[in-house]
Amino acid sequence: MSVLKQASPSSVLSDAAATPRPSACPGLLRIVAARDGGICRIKLPGGELSAAQARAIADASTRHAAGVIELTNRANVQVRGVKRGEEAALIAALIDAGLGPMPVNGVASHGNTTAAENAVNAGVASAVDAIVAPAAADDVRNVMISPAAGRDPSALFDTRPLCAELLTMLQSETRFAALSPKFALLLDGGERLARVDHPHDVWLAASQEADGVRFVFGLAGCPPMSAHAGAFTQSQSTASEKPRVNDTGALAAILPSQVPALVRALLLTFLDLAAADATRMRHLLTAHSAEAILHHAQRYLDFPLTQNAKLANWHRVIPADANLRLGAHAQRVPGTWHVGGQPPLGRLDADTLHALATLSQQHGNATLHLTPWQSVLLPDIATHAVPVVLSGLNALGLACEPAQAITHLVACAGSSGCARGLADTKTDALRLAARLPAGVDVHLSGCARSCAAAHCAPYTLLAAAPGLYDFYRRDGRPGFGQCVARQLTIDQAADMLERLVRSDTDA
Ligand code: SF4
Repeated sequence: MSVLKQASPSSVLSDAAATPRPSACPGLLRIVAARDGGICRIKLPGGELSAAQARAIADASTRHAAGVIELTNRANVQVRGVKRGEEAALIAALIDAGLGPMPVNGVASHGNTTAAENAVNAGVASAVDAIVAPAAADDVRNVMISPAAGRDPSALFDTRPLCAELLTMLQSETRFAALSPKFALLLDGGERLARVDHPHDVWLAASQEADGVRFVFGLAGCPPMSAHAGAFTQSQSTASEKPRVNDTGALAAILPSQVPALVRALLLTFLDLAAADATRMRHLLTAHSAEAILHHAQRYLDFPLTQNAKLANWHRVIPADANLRLGAHAQRVPGTWHVGGQPPLGRLDADTLHALATLSQQHGNATLHLTPWQSVLLPDIATHAVPVVLSGLNALGLACEPAQAITHLVACAGSSGCARGLADTKTDALRLAARLPAGVDVHLSGCARSCAAAHCAPYTLLAAAPGLYDFYRRDGRPGFGQCVARQLTIDQAADMLERLVRSDTDA
């Protein structure tokens, strides 16, 4: 074991640290124009939404937008089709529902007074002027935990309190306003229901040691999986693909109580060292070694970061099972279940969101937990209520079985909602669902930006023209993988999927 040496604090900040970076990413306070109207993204702490907040979103989406609500692949929600001139009213309604970032000077608070009234009390011209200030605090709320955190029987650690602490820290420290809105943290408690294939700028994962739980961590990636504990459980690997094992291991291990200080140190280090055009940790790693980054981070810590040779081979041993997001599964407390369903391609209307809120109030704990698979989980359902909740989800059109083809498809907004889209991915995905081979996961992307999938899907259809797609197969290389055919119709893509799956099965 070697202890990373302590260094003295630097008083020199980079340009990146001093200047907030511009962004085209939607946020709650930054509504971005799209072909079908504005997009307002609402970041949910730990993916959790109270039933009352769900109702507020549903009401606001019909009053100020097109009534289309999307679940995102980072367990957040976005309202589409925001009407021109309604932006401030939508933002105020969402903030009044407690969905905004931490209040600044009491302006963006909620309760008996509205955001607009608070703005007047604070002596500012308008609600929008008042709530623009904490936009950066909204942007940094990017901490991913399992939707079953604290409930998953396999978990090593309940990450919810740590997640709350990290979110408070991220919003409290003004320097973090310089982070990209995409800069994201993963806090993995070792749950079986876990999305551990999305790369994060900093990942931390619970690890059982002889004397208790530690958190190991790494930069710009995912917790490495053992070959027997893959993140994919839905026939997602192909015969030609190597086992999806990341062999970078972990950098170091710390106590759970040290997680907030470590994250703070790593983020300050990023801001100290990153060039103005370096927005993500992977960019920093092209200029600085991980060892140099840890060495710099040490100056912000009052405990030593220790490197352990064994951690170079650390792997997550608990299998991750995405199927647990669907249907009913027992929680840690006997007699309680989480019940989940997936709306087609992650989209809901306002009535469906109201109905989900009602189900959670009548049979659960009056919260909805969003998942990074664009689905929803209702926790704390008593055993006797499981059948009624399942039939309620089915009646609302949510898929609750992994055998349902629609749960294996991801599609971005496509040309109907996005000016960059070269094809109507949503409509084409529904057509493909009718012919999709069992258990095969496919991502349809309207352009190369890949908004709908932070991971590389086994198969990607990249739009080339209306109704035509280039067909990619994941093979371990960066991006979508290998392009095996160009300009296929949806029927031709379905034929090719059948052939490839058959040949993989026969191999
Ligand atoms: S992937 Fe391209 S077409 Fe699809 S939503 Fe993103 S920018 Fe638009």
